[in-house]
Amino acid sequence: MSSTLGVLLRQLDPLLTITMVEKLDDVAEESTSGWNNAGTGHAAYCELNYTPETADGGIDASKAFAINESFERTLQFWSYLIHQQALPEPTSFINATPHLSFVWGEKNVSFLRKRFAAIGEHHMFAGMEYSEDPAVLREWMPLVMDGRDPAQPVAGTRVKHGTDVNFGSLSRSMVGYLQNSDNFDLLLKHSIHGLEKQSDGKWRVSVRESGSFASKHIIADFVFLGAGGAALQLLQASGIAESVGYGGFPVSGQWLVCKKPEIVSQHLAKVYGKASIGAPPMSVPHLDTRIIDGEKALLFGPFAGFTTKFLKRGSFMDLFASIRPANLWPMLKVGMSSFDLIRYLITEVMQSHADRMNALREYFPNAKDEDWTLATAGQRVQIIKKDPQKGGKLEFGTEVISAADGSLAALLGASPGASVTVTAMLQVLEKCFPEKMASAEWKAKLKEMIPSYGRSLTNDAELLKQIRQDTLSTLGLIDTGETMQAPEAAVV
Ligand SMILES: Cc1cc2nc3c(=O)[nH]c(=O)nc-3n(C[C@H](O)[C@H](O)[C@H](O)COP(=O)(O)OP(=O)(O)OC[C@H]3O[C@@H](n4cnc5c(N)ncnc54)[C@H](O)[C@@H]3O)c2cc1C
Repeated sequence: MSSTLGVLLRQLDPLLTITMVEKLDDVAEESTSGWNNAGTGHAAYCELNYTPETADGGIDASKAFAINESFERTLQFWSYLIHQQALPEPTSFINATPHLSFVWGEKNVSFLRKRFAAIGEHHMFAGMEYSEDPAVLREWMPLVMDGRDPAQPVAGTRVKHGTDVNFGSLSRSMVGYLQNSDNFDLLLKHSIHGLEKQSDGKWRVSVRESGSFASKHIIADFVFLGAGGAALQLLQASGIAESVGYGGFPVSGQWLVCKKPEIVSQHLAKVYGKASIGAPPMSVPHLDTRIIDGEKALLFGPFAGFTTKFLKRGSFMDLFASIRPANLWPMLKVGMSSFDLIRYLITEVMQSHADRMNALREYFPNAKDEDWTLATAGQRVQIIKKDPQKGGKLEFGTEVISAADGSLAALLGASPGASVTVTAMLQVLEKCFPEKMASAEWKAKLKEMIPSYGRSLTNDAELLKQIRQDTLSTLGLIDTGETMQAPEAAVV
């Protein structure tokens, strides 16, 4: 988030002095690290939770359109940076990986059919294919189909130009670009531990180097708190009125990982299924091809867990330290009303390797226990906020919170996360730099970086076509998803 905002600001105002503070010894080692997230370029091609069923049995596709449009903005910005040679070759951070949805059972097949009818014809989802034919589905995803009961009703959709993104590599490249520019300072192994608004309207940011007790101070006109799960604590430390009442609910994640080349080579897709009842939306199971720093692997998960830490390398005291009189009631109300979620988390935490393998075998029937190991993913802190009716509510999206005077902003929440960074950081700019955003200079630059900025791709098929022609070819995403060669005999 911070590297995206940094690059946007650097492009909009090359003279701006920017300091980035990172408490670890490198950037992008928390949720943004390639192994800590699923690397899905969320475009609603395969994620069934973005198209929920309505009470009358219809499909609500509004979120799917919003997320698709948001990812298109992200792709435009990355393409622009490639054209500017501000980013290295696209394969260092993005790879074409078909996005598939896969379901079984009459009810789920009927749902997927309706979902396809609702979005498949729209220009945003152009190229989406639907099939209930096991032979076609086997061609798309052999590991998922081999060993499956032939009598089982199944259905799938596929979008070939889906993506696998190494957000860690991308962030490091963006920070590298910033380091090569003037007036940029990166403080690694430095923690922000205090924020104070001075009488002149500037922020006094207190920073401490690891292993030292001495504080340094940075004086800034504007502060962005892109501290991942820890953003809530820093937002609270800022004391801005807009932070009152917010709390956080941490959910950790785990994956099953397989790096055996003979298995990995048989799957080139992100295959998303349906979440179980009570599961938070970001816990939809999926079997993914991952390409991280040149290494190919299969990931299955996520399996949720519970810890009181707000960062993977955080403190067990994080949750308790975030409790304030103003967020206690919303947090208690959420705790008292989220039975399905709590039951789901307890079940997940109690799982053995055999249980997790059984979950995997629903997607990959021939999977063998010895080929898969468990890895810990990053930490997500879901937003808890006041609700006039219910007292408190739990939200699974991301939210930009900003001070009324635009001098500080924070990003809370982590889903759909890194895929929507550009939209989220544009919101920060709109909220905190409204006059500059309205200036002819910034408007022109924004149009150059994100040609669809201020226009609707959902309503403008021709504009989307032109934009995709550029982004898909610049980022090497065309001619993607050559169908997997279904092996005659499974090697597993
Ligand atoms: C299991 C899992 C799966 C996910 N899958 C996807 C996916 O498929 N697609 C997708 O788009 N998104 C996904 N996400 C979400 C995505 O990873 C996050 O939204 C995104 O990486 C968050 O970026 P960030 O910069 O806000 O936070 P982070 O990457 O967590 O970075 C925050 C940084 O702030 C630093 N920091 C914290 N406190 C301080 C302090 N006091 N002083 C200085 N530095 C500090 C941390 O060390 C860290 O480097 C997933 C997340 C998880 C956990």
